[in-house]
Amino acid sequence: MALVVQKFGGTSVGSIERIRNVARRALATQKAGNDVVVIVSAMSGETNRLLALAQEMAKIPDAREMDVVAATGEQVSAALTAMAIHVEGGEARSLLGHQVKILTDGAFSKARIKTIQGTKIFDTLKKGRIAVVAGFQGVDENGDITTLGRGGSDTTAVAVAAAIGANACEIYTDVDGVYTTDPNICPSAKKIPRISYEEMLELASLGAKVLQIRSVEIAMKYGVPVHVRTSFSDAEGTWVTGEDKALEDVVVAGVAYEKNEARVHVVNVPDKPGIVAELFGDIADKNISVDMIIQNVSREGQDRANVTFTLAKTDLARAKNFIEEVAKRLGASGVRYDEDVVKVSIVGLGMRSHAGIAAKMFRLLANEGINIQAISTSEIKVSCLIHAKYTELAVRTLHDGFIGNK
Ligand code: ASP
Ligand code: MG
Repeated sequence: MALVVQKFGGTSVGSIERIRNVARRALATQKAGNDVVVIVSAMSGETNRLLALAQEMAKIPDAREMDVVAATGEQVSAALTAMAIHVEGGEARSLLGHQVKILTDGAFSKARIKTIQGTKIFDTLKKGRIAVVAGFQGVDENGDITTLGRGGSDTTAVAVAAAIGANACEIYTDVDGVYTTDPNICPSAKKIPRISYEEMLELASLGAKVLQIRSVEIAMKYGVPVHVRTSFSDAEGTWVTGEDKALEDVVVAGVAYEKNEARVHVVNVPDKPGIVAELFGDIADKNISVDMIIQNVSREGQDRANVTFTLAKTDLARAKNFIEEVAKRLGASGVRYDEDVVKVSIVGLGMRSHAGIAAKMFRLLANEGINIQAISTSEIKVSCLIHAKYTELAVRTLHDGFIGNK
């Protein structure tokens, strides 16, 4: 007998008929001899609709009230799912964040879970019922309703699974698993049967938006096996698990790309201690994360350098003014921007033990005449910044070069 958490995303609970399917699946799992906890998202499109309503009411809606509005989407689908289970002849109880109690900090719209009490869930299971928990929502120390950020039901699911010691956390979504790259631009992309937490984190943060990043961090911390799969068939999806020998042998597990990158070029700053510290210190103070950084060496006889870095395209507009201000203060001769860039990355545990992976990546891109504008690496990842017009070509070339085109 196992304890299973099943999370259903917006499309899986997108209609009355689909909620009935969720109920049937949860009941079948229970009949097979398991205790079942279901976590549900809001019906697809609902959270967007709710946020738009709030925005219509007030340009800058009150953060506390915004979360009260946003959390209703999951309240509706949790209760409808419990009803569907009743209709199918089973027993279930819906539980909201404050009822479970999923205690979070007070950061409205991006709250982080502090603790989860298992008692209410266990009491429900003991009575032979399925516990249906509303995803995405929690409660802070003041008793105020909070939400966990977009895609936060994944995090509810994994955190609940960790808290109650579930044997597995199934994430039912509208794709049938995690792919080696985006199948929309690379026809040879393949479903990955098993991937490590660490690789998944790199792929998630690089733009493979299957799981909320936070949920993978929690799964890794508590060793929760996560199974990403589709609710439209019984096919196995992708298991996200701890590392082992078989996973370590895979040199490149996936190829990702991120379009939300912009390049900033600060020209002719004095080449002396403290300059980049001041530049990036000021940027960090504004809560803007910088990704790739390059500082070239100054030309002989000139004590000047150029500093190039990337940040999220979506942060560029608000960053421009003060970057120009700092640049001026530091004595730079100018600032240039480039938004026609994309970051392509290869990710794999096997990179730790294989040499020449970065060199092969550069060679593959060079063979296609693709210029590399910036490079960054970590133990299990190499990223290159290239012109956006080469995105598809680069992804296909790297995918087929490292993973294969069959
Ligand atoms: N309903 C929330 C959202 O749309 C949370 C989730 O679906 O995971 O972001
Ligand atoms: Mg999601």
